[in-house]
Amino acid sequence: MDFESLWAYQTEDLKADAIATEIRRSPIRVKLEKSRDFIMERQKQYKQIEDSIAAIADRKDVLIHALENTIAQIESQQQRMEALDPEDGDAVAALRDEVARSRDEIRTLEKELSHMSTDSAAYDKQLRSVRLDAAKAKQTFDQLKTDYENESKVRKEELEQQRARVRNLESTVEPSLMAEYLAIKKHTTPPVVRLQYGQCSGCNTSLPSATLSKIRNGALVECETCGRMIIQ
Ligand SMILES: [Zn+2]
Repeated sequence: MDFESLWAYQTEDLKADAIATEIRRSPIRVKLEKSRDFIMERQKQYKQIEDSIAAIADRKDVLIHALENTIAQIESQQQRMEALDPEDGDAVAALRDEVARSRDEIRTLEKELSHMSTDSAAYDKQLRSVRLDAAKAKQTFDQLKTDYENESKVRKEELEQQRARVRNLESTVEPSLMAEYLAIKKHTTPPVVRLQYGQCSGCNTSLPSATLSKIRNGALVECETCGRMIIQ
């Protein structure tokens, strides 16, 4: 088997991988991703605040409705009071209690409504601040994106050229070897290593003499420890 062609192929393939890794690890790209996460986080926050504001608005409607009902109740209690016989002390006292309870309820409702207005104002303020943060972050993001595109344009062209070089070598490698190479590469890289001092140079495991002679005879041997293909 022609392992040297595979070796030459791997050399160029690893160069391409190294360029791709460099592009991925670009500090600008890392910043860009952080900036994107920040914006997404703000969008989530914005939505949560909006939900809270909507919940307050709903609750406010309920409270205002309850307030109107209680006010109407007091009016009817006052009408009943006027119709009462002033001599009927028990009935007058009972109705007065009822009116007092209604007034308490009104006070409670008004208190909650006032709290809600305070909360509403606080949420509005938060909303403005989050919106501002997000707008600033978007500016940063756009700038970073432009920077990254400029930076990576050169590197991506380089990568394309390297990938083309790799593709050109594909036909020089035996298909069965290529299949093996690609299968190993899914788990470990580099997929092919040289035999060095009787060891697999991928994981430095010493190999039994039977394995060594197989390698020397040019057979396809995979390291039992790391799974790499070992060549002479
Ligand atoms: Zn190994």
